[in-house]
Amino acid sequence: MIKSINHIGIAVKDLDKSIEIFKNIFNFESVHKEVVEKQKVSVASFEVGEVLIELTSPTDDTSPIAKFIEKKGEGIHHIAFESDDVNSELEGLKSKGISLINDTAQEGAHNMLISFLHPKSTNGVLMEICQKK
Ligand code: ZN
Repeated sequence: MIKSINHIGIAVKDLDKSIEIFKNIFNFESVHKEVVEKQKVSVASFEVGEVLIELTSPTDDTSPIAKFIEKKGEGIHHIAFESDDVNSELEGLKSKGISLINDTAQEGAHNMLISFLHPKSTNGVLMEICQKK
């Protein structure tokens, strides 16, 4: 079952520069930084209430984030919805004919299992389903 919005992913070119921009807006004190090798991204996240804002930059040119920025520019990349069981969520969505980018959950930042739905099935919005491990 989808429980909440866990985070909003924002695609950025320069992680440190973006941290400064967002720090200036939100005055947060701590930022969690992490490289997710499998997704080819560096992530910097901070809390706004219950929701994380995840600034995400590519680690190389073949990263999906690099391709996104090339196509659409920097900005909101995805909305992540937290589930208590991501794989059963994916099964349910598949049975409703919703296209998935990942058929099964993968390793994400913050020790989460994640999976993306295809934007062609979600009105152009890239959505992620995630679950705390
Ligand atoms: Zn995410």
